[in-house]
Amino acid sequence: MNKPKRILLKLSGEALSKDLGFGYDWNFVEKVVDQLESLHKDGVQIGFVVGGGNFWRGRQGGGMDRSTADYMGMLATVMNGLALSDAIRARGIPCKVLSSIQMDRVAEFFTKDKAVKYLEEGNVLIFVGGTGSPYFSTDSGAALRAAEIGADAILLAKNVDGVYDSDPKTNPSAKKFDEISFIDFVKLGLKAMDTTAVTLCMENNIPVLCFMLDESSILRAVRGEKMGTWIR
Ligand code: UDP
Repeated sequence: MNKPKRILLKLSGEALSKDLGFGYDWNFVEKVVDQLESLHKDGVQIGFVVGGGNFWRGRQGGGMDRSTADYMGMLATVMNGLALSDAIRARGIPCKVLSSIQMDRVAEFFTKDKAVKYLEEGNVLIFVGGTGSPYFSTDSGAALRAAEIGADAILLAKNVDGVYDSDPKTNPSAKKFDEISFIDFVKLGLKAMDTTAVTLCMENNIPVLCFMLDESSILRAVRGEKMGTWIR
């Protein structure tokens, strides 16, 4: 990747809980924030989308009404955004939390103009509440916000080191792609990013780098090191 001006970083909720499986691994959160601090110093404009899977995903709702279960998931992303914003602000980095769901006393309501203005003023942004609608995921939220703010790329930081043709956890001979087109990703029914999000990226020509989140990988990815899988 050439040095990007503006990136959209998607962190799953699990990335914040790491091996704990629930809540926050604060040591690891600090290591993510270390990387942000360096990028921010380099002048890269950073928007985050955080997932909520470390607390709740709609599909855990069992017999619950799907929309209700999904709104619970969106609220989980708000908690994660607040936690992350606190860790970022503690470093003296200006940071705003913008929510897709109106909740004035907790976070500002997202508008595209506000987001772009805040980025240009040097704030790190955290987009919470996903798309604001049930039946979507935070991957779709990331694709949507990336399109709106004109991000150069989406960095999809996960607990797997790229896109494979089958699940590497269950198939030891699974093959990793260095690069795959949007259309092949959809045709092969791959799961590293949800299909709605991938098609939105395809229509808006936003490249996606899927890579393993670790103590330095965000920095290395932005600085152009070859890693993970490009979907583009
Ligand atoms: N969600 C939703 N609409 C959105 C984004 C998220 O309904 O636009 C809900 C959905 O139930 C999802 C949960 O919020 O399972 C948490 O998001 P996600 O599963 O994407 O989190 P991640 O896996 O990235 O931690």
